[in-house]
Amino acid sequence: MNIASLLDRSARIHPGRPALLHGARVLHSYAGLAARVAALAGHLRHACGVAPGDRVAIYGANCPAYLEAQQAIHWCGAVVVPVNYKLHAKELAHVLENSGARAVCTSPELRDAALSIGADAARLQVLGSDGWETAAQGAPLPMHDAAPEDLAWLFYTSGTTGRPKGVMLTQRNLLAMTMAYFTDVDNVAPEDAMVYAAPMSHGAGLYQYAQLLRGARHVVPLSGGFDPAELADLARSVGQLTLFAAPTMVHRLVAHLQRTGGNGDGFKTIVYGGGPMYVEDLRRAIDVMGQKFVQIYGQGESPMTITALAREHLADTAHPRWTERIASVGVAHACVQVRVVGADDRDVPTGELGEVLVRGETVMAGYWANPEASGQTLRGGWLHTGDIGSLDADGFLTLRDRSKDVIISGGSNIYPREVEEVLLLHPRVSEVAVVGERDAEWGEIVVAFLVAQGEPAPDAELDALCLSHIARFKRPKHYRWLPALPKNAYGKVLKTELRGLRGTPS
Ligand code: AMP
Repeated sequence: MNIASLLDRSARIHPGRPALLHGARVLHSYAGLAARVAALAGHLRHACGVAPGDRVAIYGANCPAYLEAQQAIHWCGAVVVPVNYKLHAKELAHVLENSGARAVCTSPELRDAALSIGADAARLQVLGSDGWETAAQGAPLPMHDAAPEDLAWLFYTSGTTGRPKGVMLTQRNLLAMTMAYFTDVDNVAPEDAMVYAAPMSHGAGLYQYAQLLRGARHVVPLSGGFDPAELADLARSVGQLTLFAAPTMVHRLVAHLQRTGGNGDGFKTIVYGGGPMYVEDLRRAIDVMGQKFVQIYGQGESPMTITALAREHLADTAHPRWTERIASVGVAHACVQVRVVGADDRDVPTGELGEVLVRGETVMAGYWANPEASGQTLRGGWLHTGDIGSLDADGFLTLRDRSKDVIISGGSNIYPREVEEVLLLHPRVSEVAVVGERDAEWGEIVVAFLVAQGEPAPDAELDALCLSHIARFKRPKHYRWLPALPKNAYGKVLKTELRGLRGTPS
């Protein structure tokens, strides 16, 4: 089954319902949206030569045409390759090359960047442009009949080593993820409105399917992103809002509502996840907005679907273990099994820490063209998440640490190794270790500890070096120089000791 059937089904059952909104303005009904998607699929097939199984990248910020592009790629049987639009052109180049993308859909402001790294001009589609509008009026393509194991989504995730890897998600994975939303996260009514305040290339975009299935409204904010004042306005004008938000977004939205005397009216559900939520922040959020929250824990390799902490659990304040539960990430989704194991891959006793493993319908097929990494991560038939946690007797999972050392700043993942490799290119940097430091606004910020070769380099030079290689948001906020990095007997840098060390600013 092609996941685009969910749109087609809703267009047949309730053709006149509003489907796609830009701000509070309705752009297309379900019938209108499905017709445009079928026409855009025809354009991809006939004008860009996109065949079933081909990869098509989307490199753009949130906009209404983003959703059309995702659905059109599915419709013609191709594979969506969503690219974080904040990535540096060099990082995009790797994704295009590695995935062998046949076409690229981009936003107008990123068109030149896409061309500069070699995207084929003839196969570059500019989201929302005149050409896009003309293509959306063209002849419809019949939907490609996909098999459950066909690839549908290729999501690039950075690792601790090497370049970003393409997580292969099949049609079955996406369908299972969609059903898991209804089972463990929330029900959806046609009056609901999913607002895309977080990037549609990531989790927020993956939540489109459950809303499409129920014929709910899809709202792309005019800002294209997260603006608490705009969200509060949309809650009033559109209402019944659901959104996926990183914990830092929840923090900022709640602070805005508190400042302006607002509350949770007009919001139906806020699904938070993607990084740790501090308990004080959650309590305050519930105080201000009411019981509107559901937490999910997932990762690209088992999208949005490992555990969930349901509204009922958060509301059950009389439960003797309520405090522990709200600090947890909840219980395994019904369609997956979760275990916590030691280094030998055997279960650790209840309450003890180990690596979190997952098996089930949402777990990826593997990494694109990387059998070695796939075999390692999926060994024994279980996804090795790299996250460290413990299970309690009731099955609630609490995450303690991330063995992969990922820094999550403002909801974006930053892998220290990527930043370290760039800083080491500077001739006056002999050693470097990058860690995350807790920050009230961003969740975590990036801090680099460096050992100088001769005199320390000025911050400006290090900034410039980072900006020429990696995305702006990955650049360290602080550079701290040390005479030597703390290391263990094997010469491995002790990052735990670095967190909290001040060093000398340059
Ligand atoms: P990504 O693959 O980019 O979605 O990042 C996934 C990683 O984010 C997971 O492996 C966890 O380390 C972290 N993460 C996701 N959800 C949560 C959550 N609810 N609480 C804490 N960390 C989370």
